[in-house]
Amino acid sequence: MWPEGKRAAAAFTFDFDAEEVWIGEDPANASKPGVLSQGTYGAKVAVPLILEALERFGVRATFFVPGRVAERHPERVNEIVAAGHELAHHGYTHTSPTALAPDEEEAELTKGLEVLRSFGTEIVGYRSPSWDFSASTEELLQARGFRYSSNLMDDLRPYRHKRSGLVEIPIHWILDDAAHFWFDGATWTKKISTADEVGAIWEAEFLGYRRLGGAYVLTMHPQIMGRPYRLALLEHMLEWVTGHDDVWVATCAEIAERVP
Ligand SMILES: [Zn+2]
Repeated sequence: MWPEGKRAAAAFTFDFDAEEVWIGEDPANASKPGVLSQGTYGAKVAVPLILEALERFGVRATFFVPGRVAERHPERVNEIVAAGHELAHHGYTHTSPTALAPDEEEAELTKGLEVLRSFGTEIVGYRSPSWDFSASTEELLQARGFRYSSNLMDDLRPYRHKRSGLVEIPIHWILDDAAHFWFDGATWTKKISTADEVGAIWEAEFLGYRRLGGAYVLTMHPQIMGRPYRLALLEHMLEWVTGHDDVWVATCAEIAERVP
């Protein structure tokens, strides 16, 4: 499945949720500047720092962006595209397709696509805001010419959905920064992990994907990963992954092209 000399693939992916993830969690957050500022940090501080790190290691990443985030922070999306990274769909608002009626889901997909395409780049990938599908999602994606989805946890290697032929690039909580670092100020139910702990998990998983020939997909969020001690972890992972010559580092769109 992978280019000659490569035994596995790796993708650095960022869900650039900014304020929308908080509004999606609870619409009442839209009028709470303190809550929203957590997301604003992603656009204001984290994305530039992440772009700088990616450039330093020569890695092109995939950024999944809700349409409303692109409308609110167009300069950041322009910078992402200008640096050669892939832009992909992550809803218009940050609402799970499973919470939408079929016509609402269609409107979300269409509007999000319209906004992202206005940045002058092709949009071929979809990651749902909840990593989940409704009964209509697959068909809606197929009708709009999407080439891949990155939502399900049932494999280590990309594959094609039987019904639509859409490529699936699997993800997992283990490789998601939110699972390790997300702190919910409303409930105080989670501890904040150290970078060493998460780095050890991510390295061991990487070695497993490399051995088994999978596609190692890190899912990160600028507002979470862009804190100083976690940026150091990102830099470490960029160095660690690119230090393995037999692993192909690519965007999700490039990985999708390899799936027979
Ligand atoms: Zn998201």
